[in-house]
Amino acid sequence: MKSEYFLSEAQRIAHIGSYELDVATGSWTSSDELYQIFGIDQNYNKNIETWKNILHPEDKEAIFAYLQNDVLTAHQTFNREYRIIRVSDNEERWVHGLGELEFDTNGNPVKMIGTIQDITERKQAEERIARFSRIFEDSLNEIYLFESDTLKFIQVNKAAQNNLGYTMAELKELTPLDLKPEFTTELFTNLIAPLRKGEKENIVFETVHKRKDQSLYNVEIHLQLLEFEHEAFFAAIILDITERKKNEEKITQKNKQLLLLSKASTEINKVLDIKIILQQLVKIAIELTGSTSGVAALYEDDKMVFTTYNNKGKIIPIDFKFEKGYGVPGWIIKTKKPYITNDAKNDKYVIQKIRERLNFHQLIDIPILNKKGELLGCFEIFNTIDKRPYNEQDIEIMQGLSASAAVAIENAQIILERKKTEMALKTSNEFNESLIETIPFGLDIVDLEGNVLFMNNLLKDTVGIENPKGKCWEFYKDSGKQCTECPLKDEMELGETNIYEIHNVFGGREYEITYTVMNYKNQKAMLEIFRDITESKKAQKEILKLSRGIEQTPAMVVITDTDGNIEFINPKVTEFTGYSKEELIGKNPKIFQSGQTPQKTYKELWDTIIKGDTWEGEILNKRKNGELYWESVRISPIFNDEGELINFLGIKVDITENIKARDELLAAKEKAEETNKLKSNFLANMSHELRTPMVGIIGFIEILEEEIKKPKLKEYASFVHEASSRLMETLNLILNLTKIEAEKINIELSKIDVIQNMKRAIKTFDKIAAKKNIYLRFESDIKKFETETDERIFDQIISNLVNNAVKYTKRGGVTVSVNKIKNDTYLEIKVKDTGIGIPKDKQELIWEDFRQVSEGMARLYEGTGLGLTITNNFVNKLGGEIKLESGLSKGSTFTVLLPVRAKSISTKTKEQTSNKKTGTPKTKNKQEKLKTLLYFEDDKISLEAIPLFLKGR
Ligand code: ADP
Repeated sequence: MKSEYFLSEAQRIAHIGSYELDVATGSWTSSDELYQIFGIDQNYNKNIETWKNILHPEDKEAIFAYLQNDVLTAHQTFNREYRIIRVSDNEERWVHGLGELEFDTNGNPVKMIGTIQDITERKQAEERIARFSRIFEDSLNEIYLFESDTLKFIQVNKAAQNNLGYTMAELKELTPLDLKPEFTTELFTNLIAPLRKGEKENIVFETVHKRKDQSLYNVEIHLQLLEFEHEAFFAAIILDITERKKNEEKITQKNKQLLLLSKASTEINKVLDIKIILQQLVKIAIELTGSTSGVAALYEDDKMVFTTYNNKGKIIPIDFKFEKGYGVPGWIIKTKKPYITNDAKNDKYVIQKIRERLNFHQLIDIPILNKKGELLGCFEIFNTIDKRPYNEQDIEIMQGLSASAAVAIENAQIILERKKTEMALKTSNEFNESLIETIPFGLDIVDLEGNVLFMNNLLKDTVGIENPKGKCWEFYKDSGKQCTECPLKDEMELGETNIYEIHNVFGGREYEITYTVMNYKNQKAMLEIFRDITESKKAQKEILKLSRGIEQTPAMVVITDTDGNIEFINPKVTEFTGYSKEELIGKNPKIFQSGQTPQKTYKELWDTIIKGDTWEGEILNKRKNGELYWESVRISPIFNDEGELINFLGIKVDITENIKARDELLAAKEKAEETNKLKSNFLANMSHELRTPMVGIIGFIEILEEEIKKPKLKEYASFVHEASSRLMETLNLILNLTKIEAEKINIELSKIDVIQNMKRAIKTFDKIAAKKNIYLRFESDIKKFETETDERIFDQIISNLVNNAVKYTKRGGVTVSVNKIKNDTYLEIKVKDTGIGIPKDKQELIWEDFRQVSEGMARLYEGTGLGLTITNNFVNKLGGEIKLESGLSKGSTFTVLLPVRAKSISTKTKEQTSNKKTGTPKTKNKQEKLKTLLYFEDDKISLEAIPLFLKGR
């Protein structure tokens, strides 16, 4: 009897119930404890079907099939964890069922005897452990754990490592004093003394922290002394309050009321009990706004839960739960926006029943949102009808308060979670293998020497070994990489959860191992949970690579949301525009506008990108300091996988210098063109002005030359004649050029014998050649060749080239030849001399007007530098081309290719050409004599010279 009592007592303590199942009938009996676990009583009809009914709907079929197939049919031991719905209160519970079969002499199962343990608490503890390790690592706040006597850091979370700039290894050598320049050892020891003595549970203080790079930041520290396995250590949660400090200062300047608020919210931050935070929040809100009453709620399980009501300073317990869409808090859940009404009685969201109970006429409801914008709760303040109405400023103040409350609530939640998980860690030291199998991660337990004590099936599959025995590092090997010692060994005594990454194992994959020291079968051991992070790492690297690319590109990158608000900028933007990141994020890129780009451009831009196309263009923008700059912009829409427009991407390059250069170039070109026009006009006028009197001079000197008998004077007259002829020639050239430039040269075609024309042109240089003692030859296989061309231009080409050849030749001579080439479609005329030649580097410039090989003061030859320019133009006019082969002292050969017109041109064309306004009537036959001449002249000398001149001919 007594032993039975002990058994049941032991079962009660361990939450284990035993049972016996009769296989043939399906009925079972059980201990009292199993009644408790299942929530049934003695009268419960106990058979397999009713057991099945207790199973959790989601586990029901699987567990039942397991019993039927694996256990009763395949004769395996029953060993499963499963969920049930406790009959007495319909609560979901976890149990671990074990059962051994007993067989008859024929080997058929007769009975199953076993135990069922309630493992709900353990299961929850495990979840909390996992949650805690995540909270610790993922917490954006810095969390430090350090030894209670030496003060050396034990563990510091990633947020802290990142902010401080120290690695974990470096921190292990440091104590909190190394981070706190305001503290001496004595001061700090005094500060934490109440914690060590157990007089206080936690202390909160503000100080300054120093990073590895010596920079400082304001912190608020929440310090607690914790104990784990008889070892005491400090846990500190650090809040970076630099921003808050800054804000406090700003607020001071703004107004007194906000100062009060800020102080109040600092007070709130120091309180760690969430309920008290909410009460405090309402109290301050009432004070600040002069309201009559208020309530605050925590957002739990998709509901706003109100527990206390502050009415004129009295705290009254209430129990209101608001679901999404129900009343004002329900509206807050939906919108996360503040709500204000000064006529609650007629407001469509206010629930009138509640309004009557709380007796209010005006209301403000403010959501409590954390930094990520997640809803933590809300608070409301109320006024009776006789009070002043609420306004926007009230909302603003309440929102400031709400932000502080959010920080406080989150801190409190972290502390709460910590406390809970510390407890869980202690109670979960006993270990249940089958529980572990349910965890969807590879998992093992190793002792302090690295011997594998346990490995779950998932990890066995990953490692590829069925019965792992030996050191853990012998299993976790890869061809490229294998541990020879446990890399975690040093940290195994810590009694804290930690994370370690291994790379290139199990076929080149990467794992994150969360490990924690715990008790396993009465010895200290390490639980390692493996999480495959290969894919996420890869994605991370990809993202990193991309973002680095964006960070480092020399172009400015701006990403906006679909409304055009800036979400991302690369450093180039701040560097170039002078705006800080804070000034730009959330703003519209309008901030860059100079006001000088036409609205039309922006409209076109938006129309393009909204359509899903990329817009490219140039925009004049403004820096923060007012300086204007031109940028070349490319804006394209970004779509997500579903094809929805999610962002706009702008890539901008500063092209101010290019635009400047372009404008300057354009201006220079315009100027040059204008100057050139001026020059042409000037030349045209001058040459006309000079040519007119020259006609008179030449006319009279010819007469004088003939009439004068005295030899000496006759010679003088011939000098004057020669000189004025040269002058006339130059004037003709200039006139030709200006005509060409003004495009006033018209082709007048007529049929000529080119051989005869060439001979005649060359002949005019005979005298000069003879004088220089050089030869001048004409070579042609063709005796006569008739074609249609502009005779005047053709003659000019030949005489220009021969003129040059003779002029630039001192020894040897000049040979002019003509050939038909390319199936008689072209005439090839060569003017070849043995003269001074043209150096290669000057062969380009000689075609430009006024340019000569020898220029300036060192000019050796007379001439204008116009002959070749005109020749080239004339050749082009005739549809031909001109080439030069030459070298210094090697003589020169100018080759002219002229197209041959096979068909004679119709009279109509002729008439047409000669009818052109600027064209001069053309004599059809060279022999035909002029009968009448109409001559206009405004120059007196010329007017007199012409008749004399004509009379003599
Ligand atoms: P220019 O009136 O100076 O002869 P051109 O335009 O006819 O003007 O020729 C330009 C320059 O080309 C000349 O000044 C001379 O330097 C060079 N040149 C032209 N023809 C010859 C040639 N046959 N042999 C050597 N140099 C030549």
